[in-house]
Amino acid sequence: MSYDECYVKSVIRTISDWPEPGVQFRDITPLFKDPKALRMISDAFIQRYIDTEITHIASIDARGFLISSIMAYHLNIPLVLVRKKGKLPGKTIHQEYKLEYGTAAVEMQIDSVGPGDRVLVFDDLIATGGTILAACGLIKELGAEVYEAAALIDLPDLQGSSKIQDSGIPVHTLLAYEGL
Ligand code: AMP
Repeated sequence: MSYDECYVKSVIRTISDWPEPGVQFRDITPLFKDPKALRMISDAFIQRYIDTEITHIASIDARGFLISSIMAYHLNIPLVLVRKKGKLPGKTIHQEYKLEYGTAAVEMQIDSVGPGDRVLVFDDLIATGGTILAACGLIKELGAEVYEAAALIDLPDLQGSSKIQDSGIPVHTLLAYEGL
């Protein structure tokens, strides 16, 4: 089964004005009810990374986990978690980043990755890029290298993916949507 962008887009649902007015929320939950679409996107990512030297996937809370665990299983590499602050036990490091209103923070356990590791950072969607950039900051702080940042969806009008690329990290996404 080959990757069919039109089919995958037809499965993703857009909810207008959620969670706040003006936002077009790209709801990927129907993907997990559609085995064909889930297989297409999983296979597309697996094929991209199967012959690379990535050693780990660092996946971002929470929808990113659902796709990256399939990738980690098929690529036979470790999956490590980047979670919202306060969710991970043990010794952790965290990084704050700016939201439109206020701040958020992501966190990793200090033994997740280390020197010599080449890490793929994965999330479901790139909007402003703040979440992925904060995750990349943690990975570098732990001494590992960020190989690439990948997401299912890019919102290029918010310029997050170009901000990530400008920081020297390659970006790979499967789908793009105009607007917020
Ligand atoms: P950002 O840090 O601005 O790149 O935001 C990325 C995170 O926010 C991802 O984990 C997404 O799940 C979520 N997100 C932001 N905007 C949207 C949107 N329009 N639809 C769905 N999820 C979004």
